[in-house]
Amino acid sequence: MPPTILDGKAYAKELEAELTARVAKLKEQTGNPEPPILATILVGADPASATYVKMKGNACRRVGMESLSIALPEETTTTQLLAQIDELNANPRVHGILLQHPVPKQIDERACFDRIALEKDVDGVTSLGFGRMSMGEHAYGSATPAGIMRLLRRYGIEIAGREAVVVGRSPILGKPMAMMLLGANATVTICHSRTKNLPEVVRRAEILVGAVGKPEFIKANWIRDGAVVVDAGYHPGGVGDIELAPVIPRVAAYTPVPGGVGPMTIATLIAQTVEAAEKAIGTIRKNR
Ligand code: NAP
Repeated sequence: MPPTILDGKAYAKELEAELTARVAKLKEQTGNPEPPILATILVGADPASATYVKMKGNACRRVGMESLSIALPEETTTTQLLAQIDELNANPRVHGILLQHPVPKQIDERACFDRIALEKDVDGVTSLGFGRMSMGEHAYGSATPAGIMRLLRRYGIEIAGREAVVVGRSPILGKPMAMMLLGANATVTICHSRTKNLPEVVRRAEILVGAVGKPEFIKANWIRDGAVVVDAGYHPGGVGDIELAPVIPRVAAYTPVPGGVGPMTIATLIAQTVEAAEKAIGTIRKNR
């Protein structure tokens, strides 16, 4: 059987249509034509970060929301950034706050992430949100792994009882990914730069998530037949963190690069902002 393509681009489009309707309903229910706002904070001039923030702002507008984009200079201090976050926490029109990672070195990124109010942490970056999610309590999950979980569920990928291997343990990706898979009852192994015999560990994976940040670092011949392969990476030349092309004929499912994980990250961020707005005005829909 040919492998299932976990088409994040197509699913994100479907999600956007649903979110557009929900935003319109929100405006109707409140009688307030002013749309919910996702505030984005970009510190410094990193071109890749600027592009990501722009893409997120565009996605907001596509579903009828507003994006308040705040650009701070490279030399911003932790105190200044905390003050900016406090201001957004206190602004009732802002329902979600995104602080683009990474911030310049002089800033205490963890302190700034953790200053975001839990109910506005739609990018799932706070320690409190991570802890709550890990305990199975409600919190917005980190957008990239939460988007991956949505995609796996959309395609009916069975997770419970299966061996999942996550390569990478960053706070925004590998760690929350592992906790989400654990929450869905997978048997989870987390790999990192000190892991020994990585190819052997990867070979155990029935579900493999590559989140290493190095082009085609995970080799095709490490991957077992019939695996579900999720690649979070995207590098120049259109490759991810996994050497995907040679393995496609023998896997059960895979995320294409590009068009897999990336669009799901943005759609999930927007979905979580809409949910935050719905919650804020007390109209949260059931069954989500
Ligand atoms: P990161 O913060 O750089 O983390 C990379 C992880 O890979 C670390 O945990 C590191 O281990 C591990 N690693 C590095 N070298 C390794 C090795 N030789 N063997 C095993 N593990 C190794 O990166 P990230 O932010 O999590 O991003 C990971 C990938 O996802 C990148 O390609 C990034 O572009 C992509 N990404 C995509 C999206 C999206 O929306 N599509 C969003 C975020 C990230 P240590 O902890 O031991 O250093």
